[in-house]
Amino acid sequence: MPCHICVTCGVQHAESDRPPAACSICEDERQYVGWGGQRWTTVPDMAGRYRNQLDDQEPGLASLRTEPHFGIGQRAFLVQTPAGNLLWDCLSLIDEESVAALAERGGIDAIAISHPHFYGTCVEWSAAFGDAPVYIHRADAPWVMRPSSSVVLWDGEAAEPLPGLTLVHLGGHFDGAAVLHWPAGAGGRGALLTGDTIQVVMDRRFVSFMWSYPNLVPLKPEQVTAIASRMAGYDFDRMYGAFEGRSVLGDAAAALSRSAERYLKRMGAGPGGLEGRRGA
Ligand SMILES: [Zn+2]
Ligand SMILES: [Zn+2]
Repeated sequence: MPCHICVTCGVQHAESDRPPAACSICEDERQYVGWGGQRWTTVPDMAGRYRNQLDDQEPGLASLRTEPHFGIGQRAFLVQTPAGNLLWDCLSLIDEESVAALAERGGIDAIAISHPHFYGTCVEWSAAFGDAPVYIHRADAPWVMRPSSSVVLWDGEAAEPLPGLTLVHLGGHFDGAAVLHWPAGAGGRGALLTGDTIQVVMDRRFVSFMWSYPNLVPLKPEQVTAIASRMAGYDFDRMYGAFEGRSVLGDAAAALSRSAERYLKRMGAGPGGLEGRRGA
């Protein structure tokens, strides 16, 4: 039986004879059902019409995105470390060419996904690389549309899917939303792969924070304060966001704190914003 992929969010659902009646991820207020109604595809249907583009970002880090644009249009990342390779976030299309390209770089030892919008076909990516574990925060377990024994639900505030890589639970955009801290990135100054809960914006000196991006629903000020405070314990010079070109390529930790300050100020959180709250 095929596993259907929602055309709007790109998330693959459990196998079923007929397409599911609805996509829970798109019916959620944070997303939307495609304007033409709920539509589905499958990996075999996508083959030949789409391809995955692999781009080097820096030594040890490559991005992967589907062309032409599909679903939400996010990029995934291959992080190479001496302890193994991690696929951060995921895509909907998996094909022989992409599997071969990643295999050439040492394959995938673990997969970790920032939040439900980017689950893609993670179960198939896992299967293509020896049933690599797929790390998903337990708070987002209800959003796993294709259950699998490869899914590892992690709890608490941090996890280490491979030695030297830390998943940091931030919440916000989704209760289980997480980022990936790669201390060896940016030439040893550290890099943060942010998914959606920290969003690198068009002015790439800043990030922002939303509960829903397509429907423009902001996070509460206290959630933004919590995200910035939580990240204050990590060093990173670069932030790689979920979308093409959306990266902060220097002094990224400062970019995160000044972005939180700006957000709180615009939300009327008062002078002192973050600092005042930290001291409180
Ligand atoms: Zn969907
Ligand atoms: Zn999202």
